[in-house]
Amino acid sequence: PAAIEAVGVTRSYRFGDSTVEALRGVSFTVAEGEYAAIVGPSGSGKSTLMHLLGCLDRPTSGTLRVGGRDVAQLSDGELADLRNREIGFVFQAFQLLPRSSAVDNVALPLLYRGVKAPQRRARAAAALEAVNLGHRLTHRPSQMSGGEQQRVAIARALVGEPRILLADEPTGNLDSRNGAEVMRILEELNSTRGVAVVLVTHDDEVAGRARRQVRVRDGLVELDTGAGPGTGPG
Ligand code: ADP
Ligand code: ADP
Repeated sequence: PAAIEAVGVTRSYRFGDSTVEALRGVSFTVAEGEYAAIVGPSGSGKSTLMHLLGCLDRPTSGTLRVGGRDVAQLSDGELADLRNREIGFVFQAFQLLPRSSAVDNVALPLLYRGVKAPQRRARAAAALEAVNLGHRLTHRPSQMSGGEQQRVAIARALVGEPRILLADEPTGNLDSRNGAEVMRILEELNSTRGVAVVLVTHDDEVAGRARRQVRVRDGLVELDTGAGPGTGPG
């Protein structure tokens, strides 16, 4: 079964009398456990697509299913629940709480789910160990390198055990050594836990390491190395 299935998805932004068609009919399936890189020039629609895949936004037309649910059938509250259950987000700029420790940052999504404090802490510590930061539980973001901060953000994205991890330029603020470490962790989490990873990148090396590349241009998928049966490198 597909983790995400988009069929003929469009997204238009209206302001005043004009309309921008950010996505003009995108069909795109993310299989369970897949690892895909989205690439394309600035303004091509990558962020819009990521927001749709992550249930932060809804299509203007077309069908989008996430975890088997048609997002058009869901209320805003149900869409938020689906997002919290199925999706983890990683951003270019980490977006950690600066005054909170690593373990408190990672535990935060569990607070919103009503998990009790001792379990929050135990699960957050386990998630930090999974990104090789078991020795940094009480460090604050300013006491860690960029690569370590991004690994904390990955642990936060994964602590709720989502089916899909969406990463928008996850190595964009990192030097090549830290970027490579973050990519290695994402690849390991994908292969050992089966979490599907979809990342946007401008870095050809990062894109080239993914099993599947999806190139977006002018609101359309221009190239998809994973499209259709038997065409992917596997
Ligand atoms: P990318 O992530 O590839 O740079 P975006 O998805 O951000 O592309 O943008 C695609 C197009 O949609 C661009 O023309 C952009 O200006 C437009 N766009 C994106 N977000 C909005 C918005 N909130 N309101 C109006 N236009 C938008
Ligand atoms: P930058 O490239 O500057 O680091 P980010 O990668 O941090 O930017 O992406 C910020 C984007 O995350 C914004 O476009 C915003 O719409 C989106 N966003 C807003 N709220 C949430 C949320 N709760 N979860 C995930 N993404 C969100």
